[in-house]
Amino acid sequence: MNDAELQNLHRCVELATEALEAGDEPFGSVLVTADGTVLAEERNHVGSGDRTRHPEFALARWAATNMTIEERAAATVFTSGEHCPMCAAAHGWVGLGRIVYISSSKQLSAWLAELGVPGSPVQSLPIHEVVPSLVVEGPIPDLAEQVRDLHRRFYSFSRAAS
Ligand code: ZN
Repeated sequence: MNDAELQNLHRCVELATEALEAGDEPFGSVLVTADGTVLAEERNHVGSGDRTRHPEFALARWAATNMTIEERAAATVFTSGEHCPMCAAAHGWVGLGRIVYISSSKQLSAWLAELGVPGSPVQSLPIHEVVPSLVVEGPIPDLAEQVRDLHRRFYSFSRAAS
C-alpha cells in the first residue's frame, strides 16, 4: 500500500463519515484509474428509503456508463467496507478490477452483532464467493478501527432517535 492508495482509503473514511452525518449508513468508496486518478467517489444513501443505494453499486454503474471495458479492468475501487454480495456482483458484471477494502464483511457482522443490531435480510459473503477471479486486498487493520467507530456512532444515533 503506497501513500496515494492510503490517501484513497482515508477519503473512503471521510465519505463514510459524511454519510453518517447525513443519517445514512457509514460507507464510502472511490473509483481510481490505473494511473491513480480519482474518477468518482460515492457514499451510502440508504437513508432515502432505497436500501440498494450502496456506494460500490453506484460506482459500478458509473463505470459502466463512463469507462471503456479496458479502463474498468485496470481500475481499482477503494472502499471503507468490503462489498456486499449485490455490489460485488455489480462490480463483477461491469468488469471492474481490483478492490481494496478497509474492513471485511466478517468484521462488520461481528461488530453489528456486538451492538445488538438485528441481522440483515441479505446473506453476508466474502467478495471471492461472488466474484472468484477478482484481486481483493483487505482488511487494513490501521483504519478498520475508525470504520468500526463510525458504525458504533451510527447505531447509537439510530437508537437515540427511535
Ligand atoms: Zn453493497
